[in-house]
Amino acid sequence: MNFDFTAEENELKRRVAGVFTGEAVSEAQLMERASLEELKRTTGDFLRKLGEIGYLSLCLGPAQASESLKLLAAQEDVARISGSLFLSVETTARLFGGLVAGFGAHDQFSDLLALLAGGRIIAAVAVSEDERPDSGPGFSTVAWEDGESFIVSGTKPFVTNAPIADYIAVAASLDGKPAIFIVKPGDHAVVVGPRLETLGYNGLAVASLELREVRVPKEMVIGPLQNPTLIEFLRRTQDLLLTAASVGLMRRTLTESKKHADSHLRGGKPIFARQEIRFKIAEMLTLTQTAQLLCYRAAWMYSVSDAEAHAVLHCAKVFSAEASERVASMGVQILAGTGYVSGNPVEQAYRESKYAALAGTTTELARMSIAEELLKRHQV
Ligand SMILES: Cc1cc2nc3c(=O)[nH]c(=O)nc-3n(C[C@H](O)[C@H](O)[C@H](O)COP(=O)(O)OP(=O)(O)OC[C@H]3O[C@@H](n4cnc5c(N)ncnc54)[C@H](O)[C@@H]3O)c2cc1C
Repeated sequence: MNFDFTAEENELKRRVAGVFTGEAVSEAQLMERASLEELKRTTGDFLRKLGEIGYLSLCLGPAQASESLKLLAAQEDVARISGSLFLSVETTARLFGGLVAGFGAHDQFSDLLALLAGGRIIAAVAVSEDERPDSGPGFSTVAWEDGESFIVSGTKPFVTNAPIADYIAVAASLDGKPAIFIVKPGDHAVVVGPRLETLGYNGLAVASLELREVRVPKEMVIGPLQNPTLIEFLRRTQDLLLTAASVGLMRRTLTESKKHADSHLRGGKPIFARQEIRFKIAEMLTLTQTAQLLCYRAAWMYSVSDAEAHAVLHCAKVFSAEASERVASMGVQILAGTGYVSGNPVEQAYRESKYAALAGTTTELARMSIAEELLKRHQV
């Protein structure tokens, strides 16, 4: 088994490291306290820099899942610097970009994709789950044809990037089938609510979205599509991103905890000299490495079209989400008073770590899916 990164993967990691040198790291971390205007500017600046190194145009389109392994190491590096920036960038590139590149008709969105690849736009994706998924494609937002265009109506309580987005892709039910409608927040019928205050990832701009019978021209509509394909794409992409975000968070917490343990003296010695602290750090490293391996294994299984890739991604997501909560908690314990002060990176990680368990496929639904897809084929 060979776990080395390829020359291409190492080159991308090197280019990502080049974006986050010196002041750029503190700038990304300062996003946690930024206003909406500052967030739009800083996110835009980082998107342009990531566009210049080719990061935004990778793994878009139908082959996104099978190519995700190529990008994972670099994604984790961005997530390690700032989880908020990572989620904002990936929502634009892999979620919105993946939808437009993978499901749009040939050349339908070539102009939009060129802007996206260059980091010139910020985008969002809104998927409103239906209370009665058996009655259609599973979206509560509905659309209907009206002459040469379509009308879309619905709400979504949480949409990442909505307050700073140039475009929002909305999943809606069109004649009982899923379709994607690209809307612009400048339209008076596209109502973005006030920015929400969240437990963690405070450098993300999240708000509700209401579409009040928004008119969308045909050229900005994708679909109607095959039901499972679109939903699978959305779920898989979100789950991979959230898994990478958890691994990045653990790596960041581990670095900060080890740094503190090496420099903080108690009883004349650094606390890292104490077995109680060493054991915690050893466990943090074990959890981080295991989560990372499982995340890579899931992406590798997609790359070889393994039938169990989907279930293993759910295993990776559940494990990484729960491991990140445990790692962040141990980090706060090691930093103690320092780690309890607002704004400390470990305190921030502690608050952020809850998100991966409840976003995308929740840990409950992921466990149900693992039991359904994987365990029924295995004698354990
Ligand atoms: C900060 C933030 C940003 C977000 N950004 C976006 C975005 O950009 N775009 C977007 O589309 N969405 C976004 N979301 C929505 C997010 O993906 C959902 O919150 C998530 O999918 C969970 O849905 P829910 O909150 O409605 O919980 P529910 O689905 O109502 O679940 C509540 C609880 O019940 C459990 N549960 C639900 N169904 C079952 C079942 N059948 N059996 C057993 N247990 C069950 C769940 O596991 C969970 O514990 C965001 C959410 C947050 C908090």
